[in-house]
Amino acid sequence: PREPRAAVPLEALALDAVTHRFGTVTAVDDVTVTVGAGEIVCLCGPSGCGKSTLLRIAAGLETLQLGEVRVGGRMVAGEAGAVPPERRGVGLVFQDYALFPHLSVLDNVRFGLSALPADEQRRRALDALRQVGMGDHADRFPHHLSGGQQQRVALARALAPNPAVLLLDEPFSGLDARLREQVRDETLHVLKRTGAATMLVTHDPEEAMFLADRIVLMRDGRVEQVGCPVDLYTRPATAYAAAFFGEVNALTGVVRGGTVDTPVGRLAVEGHACGCCVADGASVEVLIRPEALKLAPLTDGVPGALPTIARVAAARLLGRSSLVHLNLPDGRGGTVHLHARMPGQFLPAEGSHLSVELDRTQAFVFPASVTK
Ligand code: ATP
Repeated sequence: PREPRAAVPLEALALDAVTHRFGTVTAVDDVTVTVGAGEIVCLCGPSGCGKSTLLRIAAGLETLQLGEVRVGGRMVAGEAGAVPPERRGVGLVFQDYALFPHLSVLDNVRFGLSALPADEQRRRALDALRQVGMGDHADRFPHHLSGGQQQRVALARALAPNPAVLLLDEPFSGLDARLREQVRDETLHVLKRTGAATMLVTHDPEEAMFLADRIVLMRDGRVEQVGCPVDLYTRPATAYAAAFFGEVNALTGVVRGGTVDTPVGRLAVEGHACGCCVADGASVEVLIRPEALKLAPLTDGVPGALPTIARVAAARLLGRSSLVHLNLPDGRGGTVHLHARMPGQFLPAEGSHLSVELDRTQAFVFPASVTK
């Protein structure tokens, strides 16, 4: 992951206090998002949270109802009216690429350059195709191209007019898993090389973490949390954010003297929760990432320290890591079930016992009421 930017970059795109309703459904609810020059911002969240609507409002494909949209500091939609999509200085890439089947690759890319002289159109289109590694395919037709190649042509077409802002809506979701990784890697390089400010919609947390300088996590039309990928993963502000960006074991507990007891150890509440649940007696939700549970054979126990002991219910190799299902006493005479993830091949026998150590940096405490 890249380091977060130190300085606040110049605003290339701003959506200011945008609210949008479809009948009685509030798809976007008072959302403010800015994208700095050269920055990649990912709008992220589950299906229906309003991210596509927000992107379409930025593009001008959806009429703004409330709020303001600015591109490079210039108002393109607001109280004074709206600039049509083609005059906003934004490039668009959609999930289905929307290439014209009857036009060659070159003519598809030239399409957005019709205001320029023909030789200039050709030069710019070829230039954009070369940027995405498709310079040799200019005379082909879309149906001759693989999904990944079509995606690159769509990106070239969006880049050719040299827009200040690029808007991409689920641009990789039409590709199979292996190709998707490769194409998004290439796309990231192209975006960084061209320096276009980018707002990209994805429902895939891993994709957002890979591509984004900043992630805007949405929930039911609102912004849940904004931050760089490392922040969202390691310092989620809510249980929703914690669960969206990684697997979690969800437990409940009660605060006693600033701590909460879990089957894998005692956690200090301070530094985890958002501050409002530190009162004694407060119910909290404790979320523990599977990789926070460090497992070891009992014989490796540190002398003097009393380890937490778990019984292995099942263990499966997933490839790069192993998933281990554990049963532990819950301290109330019952059993609690937890998942642990260990790097590489770690396949203890079912029924065997292991020691469990908790990495407290990957455990989060939230007020129970907020998570409901
Ligand atoms: P997805 O990834 O499934 O597209 P999303 O996060 O992009 O989801 P939106 O497509 O923006 O979400 O939809 C937000 C809400 O607005 C949803 O409840 C959706 O049903 C509703 N909605 C979106 N477009 C329309 C429309 N044209 N007419 C009516 N309701 C709509």
